[in-house]
Amino acid sequence: MAQKEDCIFCKIANGEIPTDMVMETEELAVFKDASPKKPVHVLIVPKDHYSSLNDDIPEELLGKMMKLIPEVAKKTGVHDSGYRTIINTGDDANQSVKHLHIHICGGAKFTDF
Ligand code: 5GP
Ligand code: ZN
Repeated sequence: MAQKEDCIFCKIANGEIPTDMVMETEELAVFKDASPKKPVHVLIVPKDHYSSLNDDIPEELLGKMMKLIPEVAKKTGVHDSGYRTIINTGDDANQSVKHLHIHICGGAKFTDF
């Protein structure tokens, strides 16, 4: 699996477009959401292209993404106060960028579900 041409998250995750990078591993990039919905709103994004959770993601990569969540929470200061992780998949979920990503949102109380 590699990058997909004309995919904005492929370009950002692989450093072709500058961004507000929070942290990086060999396979993952974590950067700030361009339109934050909470005081802290960052995205965990694989450097390889997968369109969504439906894209037969290797277990090892999924594991690495999940394991990174609390580390990102520490780095962004929401580890102890709490945070929400969201993966939107497909049209009904309003997935707008067709490159797998985990939202991590926090820094303010959620009042919806
Ligand atoms: P989705 O709706 O696909 O789950 O989430 C996509 C997220 O990516 C949105 O929250 C949106 O604000 C963010 N986003 C879209 N384009 C860009 C971009 O070019 N740079 C960054 N940093 N975030 C983006
Ligand atoms: Zn991509």
